[in-house]
Amino acid sequence: MEISVIGTGYVGLVQGAVFADTGNSVMCMDIDEKKIANLKRGIIPIYEPGLDELVRRNAQEKRLEFTTSLKAAVEHGAVIFLCLPTPQSEDGAADLSRVIAVAEQIASFAVGYRIVVSKSTVPVGTVDRIRQIMRKKGKMEIDVVSNPEFLKEGSALEDSLKPDRIVIGTKSRKAILVLSDLYAPFMRTGNPIMIMDERSAEMTKYASNSFLATKISFMNELANLCEQSGADVDWVRRGMGTDPRIGQQFLFAGIGYGGSCFPKDVKALIKTAQEHEYEFKILRAVDEVNERQKRLIVKKMLKHFNNQMRQKVVALWGLSFKPQTDDIREAPSLAVIQSLLDAGAKVRAHDPIAIPKVRSLFDGKVDFFENNYDALKGADALAIVTEWNEFRRPDFERMKSIMKRPVIFDGRNIYDPKLMRERGFTYFGIGRNGE
Ligand code: NAD
Repeated sequence: MEISVIGTGYVGLVQGAVFADTGNSVMCMDIDEKKIANLKRGIIPIYEPGLDELVRRNAQEKRLEFTTSLKAAVEHGAVIFLCLPTPQSEDGAADLSRVIAVAEQIASFAVGYRIVVSKSTVPVGTVDRIRQIMRKKGKMEIDVVSNPEFLKEGSALEDSLKPDRIVIGTKSRKAILVLSDLYAPFMRTGNPIMIMDERSAEMTKYASNSFLATKISFMNELANLCEQSGADVDWVRRGMGTDPRIGQQFLFAGIGYGGSCFPKDVKALIKTAQEHEYEFKILRAVDEVNERQKRLIVKKMLKHFNNQMRQKVVALWGLSFKPQTDDIREAPSLAVIQSLLDAGAKVRAHDPIAIPKVRSLFDGKVDFFENNYDALKGADALAIVTEWNEFRRPDFERMKSIMKRPVIFDGRNIYDPKLMRERGFTYFGIGRNGE
């Protein structure tokens, strides 16, 4: 099948490569000329485990090609996937300008039947809007479908090769047949392809992300209460998670969620509710709790150091918004760094992958280290901001010998408080009493 992908970012590149790998002929388009030039030379713009190899192999086999020409992509693809950014606009709504602009252009190019599929996360009603634009502008026969994407950065390949579910929102029989056929190789173990109306499909994506964000903010509030009341959130998590109605996942307290999806999707759903004259009270609280939680680690430091942060050296382990990705969009690390700099502290930061992206934001203001132990030199405290696996079992004696003071603020609860005290550290977790 001939497929085109418009927007070759985290979603578009992964999905394009995965479709190419099952034998389809895929053309990935992007307006970023440098990105496309690099991809043509085999340079992959993002870090995603396994993606390098998959892209190179399929490009070599000529199943995956790259272009900056939207016209070429529209001519190529019988199915055209929109994987464009839908960032937060100033009033909290999803900014649909790129999606709408591209839809208008596609309409002016397309000849013959095309299926245009929105993988971008778009508010309920957007697919209807795209369809209207295309029918008004273009002469071709088209179907516009909602097919929200559920991949997780850090395991995007695995998620795309074995999705939990595929949601297809359309009433077109033709589009259902084509897309079901396209996804069939990934659904051999019986995970469902769910066909529903466009609006429900669009809402499913926001509902999923907002529910997961709610779980995180709930646990963070609970952790704060555990701290005040002498309970330990890690024990509470285990006690709750064994109830199958609750489940084990997404119950870890920490310093808030980040990334390119949860923050903007929660805000966009609040905005959608407002537009329909409904106040989504829970989600307002979810968002507020998260904003507060991102500042918690620095608040704890200020308390520990009696507000005397000037000239204090703080080592930071982890910059990406979560492990196994180089994505720093809305990463809690950015808020932590800014608050520490504002308080007059010196920041020495380490991350296995994300340093180049953060350096471009704080160049000259933060010292960066490729090695995690180097970041500890002379540190008055270490803050764990992202729970990369390599931070879980470090050489604690070595850490103590390098740091000026053995103080750890563990924003991801990756260490055991009791053990850390036995190892000679002053240790602060999130919602832990350590008993
Ligand atoms: P991204 O920023 O990584 O990639 C988007 C790409 O689109 C960029 O390469 C950009 O240069 C390109 N682009 C922008 N304007 C363009 C235009 N007019 N024509 C062609 N290309 C253009 O974004 P992403 O993370 O891949 O997200 C894309 C969509 O998928 C968003 O709606 C997002 O909410 C959704 N989504 C993202 C994830 C995720 O984990 N990243 C998961 C599920 C859904």
